[in-house]
Amino acid sequence: MKADSSPKRISPTPSVAKSVTPKRKTRASSQGKKYAAIRRNLERQRKTMLEEAGEGLANPKGQEAFPDVSDQASAEAEQNFSMRIREREQRLVKKIDEALERMDQNIYGICERCEEEIPYPRLKARPVTTLCINCKTLEEQEEKIRR
Ligand SMILES: [Zn+2]
Repeated sequence: MKADSSPKRISPTPSVAKSVTPKRKTRASSQGKKYAAIRRNLERQRKTMLEEAGEGLANPKGQEAFPDVSDQASAEAEQNFSMRIREREQRLVKKIDEALERMDQNIYGICERCEEEIPYPRLKARPVTTLCINCKTLEEQEEKIRR
């Protein structure tokens, strides 16, 4: 730790002699390339989940008639359970949609809290995350306090 106040970094100001403005790339491509692999994964996961959800709807579990009440109750419990799973899937699909949308807007991979860039390995592992690991930890601590 040096208490060094002298300005060591001398950045030579690049004299912009040329008045030619560099060709600006269309904004869509920069993030698109960087996160292409993640995007593909998300899209694949989304498709798979929607297909599975579709099968679930086409082939609903549980019959109509039940001879006695306890059977009915357990069937309802089972149905609640599968509904909870479906809810969780729906939430994930929504998160994937949001992640894809953020990619379109070029704000993907930027922490919602501190606005720092989320490291790529974290995005790879948790592509739908909107928080860097620090902010996620903070948020979890806050949630614990609230409970
Ligand atoms: Zn953050």
